[in-house]
Amino acid sequence: MFIMNQKAYLDEVGSHDDWGAIMEDGPVLSARCKGVVADSVTQILRAVGEDPEREGLLKTPERVARAYDELLIGYRLDPMAELNNALFDVAYSEMVIVTDIDFYSLCEHHMLPFIGKAHVAYIPDKKVVGLSKIPRIVEIYARRLQIQERMTRQIAQLIDELLHPLGVAVVIDGLHMCMTMRGVKKANARMRTSTVLGVFAANSKTRSEFMDHIGPVSRVIL
Ligand SMILES: [Zn+2]
Repeated sequence: MFIMNQKAYLDEVGSHDDWGAIMEDGPVLSARCKGVVADSVTQILRAVGEDPEREGLLKTPERVARAYDELLIGYRLDPMAELNNALFDVAYSEMVIVTDIDFYSLCEHHMLPFIGKAHVAYIPDKKVVGLSKIPRIVEIYARRLQIQERMTRQIAQLIDELLHPLGVAVVIDGLHMCMTMRGVKKANARMRTSTVLGVFAANSKTRSEFMDHIGPVSRVIL
């Protein structure tokens, strides 16, 4: 879906071979796509009254294009495929909790970073996933253009589909640059979102056990 859109767009905008010659195909953006991004950054620089030819900015369009290739790599990663080989059968049905998973994402409304911590819990029903894979799931959904609410739900739903656990809970605490650097400029405002499924939704005691474990929204985001 994503690749299809990219191809259709490139056919529309035509060739950017001049940039393509110095760029290389990356995991998300082809050399031509990076050319389009770099051209657009040059336009932004001109539009804000900057001189794209001055020394400090000469390589900026190219650097920004390369950065997006890294920041948006989640579009190219298939969490189901990555996790399928990390599932184990166990006779364990107590809560598994992984807290304070750092993430870095880009808000889709301003393309500015939002960063924070994700906390994930599930109660297995015969199946568990390798522990290191939980931060990996967070990473895959963070490295896209996102909104925190959707990211929270996607992580919970993926674990639900993959493990069919008795319940899953995801809480994310985020600090949004679009709120701290611009707009309302509330430097200390943290946003907490949560998705609870299965027993976490049905049973308030299970839910509070998890919430007590992660505590209030952390003041220290990183
Ligand atoms: Zn935003």
